[in-house]
Parts: sequence; C-alpha cells; structure tokens
Amino acid sequence: MAKRSVTIVGGGQSGLQLALGLLKDGGYDVRVVQNRTAEEIATGRVTSSQCMFDQALQNERDIGINFWEGECPTVDSINFTVPAPDAPGVKAIDWNGKLDRYAQSVDQRVKFPGWMKAFEERGGTLDIHDATVQDLERYANESDLVVVAAGKGEIAGMFQRDDEKSVFDKPQRALALTYVTGMVPRSPHSGVCFNLIPTVGEYFVFPALTTTGPCEIMVFEGIPGGPMDCWGEVKTPEQHLEKSKWILDTFLPWEAERCRDIALTDDNGVLAGRFPPTVRHPNGRLPSGKAVLGMGDVVVLNDPVTGQGSNNASKCARVYMDSILARGGEAFDEAWMQGTFDAYWNYAQYVAGWTNALLRPPPPHVLNIMGAAQQFPVLAKRIANGFDDPTDFFPWFAVPEEADAYLKQLAA
Ligand SMILES: Cc1cc2nc3c(=O)[nH]c(=O)nc-3n(C[C@H](O)[C@H](O)[C@H](O)COP(=O)(O)OP(=O)(O)OC[C@H]3O[C@@H](n4cnc5c(N)ncnc54)[C@H](O)[C@@H]3O)c2cc1C
Repeated sequence: MAKRSVTIVGGGQSGLQLALGLLKDGGYDVRVVQNRTAEEIATGRVTSSQCMFDQALQNERDIGINFWEGECPTVDSINFTVPAPDAPGVKAIDWNGKLDRYAQSVDQRVKFPGWMKAFEERGGTLDIHDATVQDLERYANESDLVVVAAGKGEIAGMFQRDDEKSVFDKPQRALALTYVTGMVPRSPHSGVCFNLIPTVGEYFVFPALTTTGPCEIMVFEGIPGGPMDCWGEVKTPEQHLEKSKWILDTFLPWEAERCRDIALTDDNGVLAGRFPPTVRHPNGRLPSGKAVLGMGDVVVLNDPVTGQGSNNASKCARVYMDSILARGGEAFDEAWMQGTFDAYWNYAQYVAGWTNALLRPPPPHVLNIMGAAQQFPVLAKRIANGFDDPTDFFPWFAVPEEADAYLKQLAA
C-alpha cells in the first residue's frame, strides 16, 4: 500500500507524539508545522508544569521517545493539605498517598526541541511556520489527513465551542508558574504537594527537569478576584519570585519554610495567565468545505488544577494514532473524525468532570472524602493513583450517596 500523508499543525505534546508514533509505524509521510524553532522554544518562556503520570508516560515509552526518563527526578506520591481557617500554621487536613508508579515532569522547553530533532532524524518533515486557516486549505489539498494540535494557539478558534460539553465561559483561576532551584525536598519521598486554601485557591509543587537540570515547579491557582489573583502588578522575574514567596508566607508557612533559599532557574522560568476551560467540536470546517481534525487542548482544554492537560494530550494522541492505523487505506472522512474524537471523549469526559468539580467550592461529600483519606491510607492511595486514571473517581467521588456508601464500607 502507498504511504498515506498526514500533516499535523502544532508540534507540542500531542502533535509530536502522534507524529513520532506514525513514523514508527512506517506507513505514513508525516509533516509537522510548528510556529517556533527548537532554539526559540528552548530559550523561551516556560509553558506548563507538565507533570505526567504512568499511563501517559507509557505512551512515550511505547514509541521510544522517553529520552529523559533516566535523568528526570521522579514524583512518587500525592500529598494533600488544607490549612485550618482560623489557626495560622495549623493543618486541618494532611495526608500522603503513594503512587504505584512514578510520575515525571520534563520541561516542554527540553522535550519539544528534543522530539523535533528526533522527528527529523526519523524521516519526518518539519516546517517552521505559523499556520493560518489558508495554510490549512493547502495542507488539506496536499494530505490525506490534517490534524490541528495547536494547543491554546489562536487557530484553535476555528473549532466551534461545544456548548453542551463546556461548563464554564470564563477563566476559573488566575494561573502562575515559578520554576526554582534550592527548595528543600519533600521527605521521606518526593511528591506533588497539593495545598487547597479554601476561598483563596490552590498551590502545588513538585520536582521536575528543566533546561538547567533538576528543579521544583511551583504552580499557583488563584480564585479570580481573591488574594492569589495578584500577578497583574508583577513586572519582572524578581517580582514574580517575591510574589510567589509572599503567597506562601501568607497562607502556607510549611511550604514557605522549604523556600528560604530558592532562586529562579532562569528569567524565563515564570508565567502568569488565565483561560476558560473549553470543549470544542472536533471537526474544523475550512472555507472550502473540507474538514480538519482537532486534537489535545484544541478540543478539550481543562484548567491545570488537576495537572491533566499533558496526560490528556498524550492519551488523545494515542487514541488518534490507533484510529489512524486501524483506518488502513480508507478515507479520513468526517464520520471517522467524529468517531475518533468520541473514542477519546469516552475517557476525557471523566477528566473534565473531575477537574471542573474541583474548580467549584467543594460539596460536603468531597470534604468528607478528602478528610477521611487522613484516616484511611487505602483511600489516600486510591485518590493519588486516580491522577493516573481519573475514571477511577467515578461514581464514588462524584455522587454523594456513592461517597457515603464507600466511606461506610472503609470504616466497617
Ligand atoms: C500553568 C499551567 C500548568 C500546567 N500543568 C500541567 C501539569 O502539571 N500536568 C499536565 O498534564 N498538564 C499541565 N498543563 C497543561 C499542558 O501543558 C497542556 O495541556 C498540553 O501541553 C497540551 O498539549 P497539546 O499538544 O494540546 O498542545 P501544546 O503542547 O501546547 O502544543 C501546541 C504547539 O502548537 C504550536 N502552535 C500554536 N499555534 C500554531 C500555529 N498556528 N501554527 C503552528 N504551530 C502552532 C505551539 O507553539 C505549541 O508548540 C499545564 C498548563 C498550564 C497553562
């Protein structure tokens, strides 16, 4: 059979993973259109905290692109803490759940340039270009399939919002990232230290690999209008670091304690922004009437509060790859595109449901679960491992009666 041609617009987590997976199969000519050079990405600003759990990491291992697995620090647990509202410095809830298999975070400034190089070495065509809708028309004429994996890039706007599946129309958190060295490591084992500050927001931190070596990534999720929605006045990297420390000094003294000697990894190791979580229809219609298929954040964009975006992107790329391979020589028509997305949504709907639930003030049954995990290590472990496979949270995390029944069963 003649090789089929696939053009992927956007060389990020999902785009490059799919591109490298198709090259591994051998039956495809693959072009990736990327709007920044490897050098620009490597020396540019951080884009994510990209903590990825085992199932998503396995997708990378399966196609031989886990280049940094040996040098990247491992994340071995999830630690969950809630400060007591009226007693500064006191923890109302504090538990740790070990992960069955470690998570890892490789800075996208390291990963994407490395994957772009491997893609070209393995026979892919890399086109450095900021693609427009007109370009998509050309790619659709030249290729059997065009996939748009442009993340939060403007071109995602050509995919219509799915009003039924999208729960919010405004950003739910003011986001910030601070990449640092010199933080006191969590002991006795590493973890995502997740702190939930009621009515204020969330802060989580974990070890990672960046352009300069190992680091810790601090992630701030401020409720809009609250005291952690405070990045507007920050103008320099130094001010960003100071503001990060101020938040910890004010709300989380045990985290501040770990940060007495921290320094930025580099001046581009900071980010602040916000976006509304959005689900879009997978078929993007071009002016000519042809369709292109959206992937990753383009179709399911979640708030980072549960750290799932890169995991989702990896799982989406995996589902799409399997669907492309299974299609053989048949046309990639719109029905196939919708079916391919639906196969991904069968999974992603649970991630979106869980993530969106955590953006709202927690209902009593969720407070009960998170408190009970302190008493029942088996529950703490189950919640921790749910980050690898959030379908395991359903229905007991979502439905109050199911939560009550499960907690009674644990206590019996
Ligand atoms: C603050 C923050 C923290 C996060 N933390 C985590 C976390 O801990 N764990 C986790 O799993 N996820 C996390 N995420 C989310 C995760 O980074 C993304 O969901 C993931 O990278 C999405 O993958 P993608 O392939 O859809 O897009 P991306 O990885 O964003 O890739 C898109 C690529 O397309 C390129 N592009 C854009 N427009 C064009 C165009 N017109 N033409 C050509 N190229 C274009 C971009 O430059 C980019 O290289 C976080 C995100 C944020 C903002």
